[in-house]
Amino acid sequence: MLIVQKYGGTSVGDLERIRNVARRVAKVRREGHDVAVVVSAMSGETDRLLGMAHEMHEAPSERELDLLLSSGERVTIALLAMALEAEGVGAMAFTGRQAGIETDAEHTRARIERITGERLKAALSEGKVAVVAGFQGISPHSDVTTLGRGGSDLTAVAVAAAVKADRCDIYTDVDGVYTADPRIVSGARKLDRICFEEMLELASLGAKVLQTRSVLFAMRHSVPLQVLSSFTDEPGTLVTEEDKDMEQVAVSGVTYDRNQAKITLGRVPDHPGVAASIFEKVSAAGILIDMIIQNVSHEGTTDISFTVPKVDLRKVKEALATITVGDTSLSVEAEQDIAKISVVGVGMRAHSGVAAQMFAALSAEKINIKMISTSEIKISCVIDERYTELAVRALHDAFSLGNPGGEGT
Ligand code: ASP
Ligand code: MG
Repeated sequence: MLIVQKYGGTSVGDLERIRNVARRVAKVRREGHDVAVVVSAMSGETDRLLGMAHEMHEAPSERELDLLLSSGERVTIALLAMALEAEGVGAMAFTGRQAGIETDAEHTRARIERITGERLKAALSEGKVAVVAGFQGISPHSDVTTLGRGGSDLTAVAVAAAVKADRCDIYTDVDGVYTADPRIVSGARKLDRICFEEMLELASLGAKVLQTRSVLFAMRHSVPLQVLSSFTDEPGTLVTEEDKDMEQVAVSGVTYDRNQAKITLGRVPDHPGVAASIFEKVSAAGILIDMIIQNVSHEGTTDISFTVPKVDLRKVKEALATITVGDTSLSVEAEQDIAKISVVGVGMRAHSGVAAQMFAALSAEKINIKMISTSEIKISCVIDERYTELAVRALHDAFSLGNPGGEGT
């Protein structure tokens, strides 16, 4: 088999841990498999580099920032290749450019356009382990780019697709995907399997196991993923195509996100084109909006609420300040102490009453719901941030997620 493995920052956090990774890779190699390994920078390193950049300049040039940030992964690929050689396993390290990872020119958030991977394939066919730097690529102008935080997951999946790997194993500091955050719910259960769509919802809703873009890429290219721990030998969670069994349970997991803020616009004139002009401004500022609610109108005006990442709050307010609708000024109100709680499951397509059950569980704990949004396989509620843990536990209980097989029908 041809296996791509990815090790995150904690797994390569110091020299001993890099040796541990080398021993794991060596074991798989000795079993006769071909292996390409993608690694992150040592834990904390990317933040440290980012901190230095901001000490030099409040808004550092993104081209230079990428050059700086990409250096963290160069350190770990070189050290891992050395550790593998010390284990008696032939290995060769490649930067993003050497691996042929071609991206667009959007520095700090580049998209992968193509992976030639010629040198990786050559190294593999010589029986060597190819060690690839995560999180980086090369722009059409030959500048180093980075793929956004957590981007090594994306590198791993893209490399797996390029070399046509049989599997992509993502080693991290948790041993799989859980029904809820185990730090909050003591009875949270590790899932053996989950489908791409559920994983995508969980990842974008704030479960930090996999980078969202990497899940999307794996889904599009049908790369089977496995999430597992580099510190144990336990099987992890397999992320695969959906199958019939998966619809047996309505809800597969509960998740929360405390990084959103709620904006409410008052006195918005209720006529065609107004919402478009507001959201065009916000999106032109590069801000990702999540839930949007518009109220019933009174006397020709209405309220619109939506959520945005907390870190973008200042940018949003600036963008909104530039909007004039007729001669009315918009009133803008921001609420930061909120959390978004969601239940996710492909089984929702086949089960009714999930929303009612969710609202009942929250109301039994006297938790007020401020906003609601739904998709085919997800229901999200915005609540007061201080009830986050309580809500997650209540929902985990209400849907019996601690029992294998879930609540059934
Ligand atoms: N080192 C990068 C980061 O910290 C990429 C990664 O670890 O996936 O975001
Ligand atoms: Mg990560």
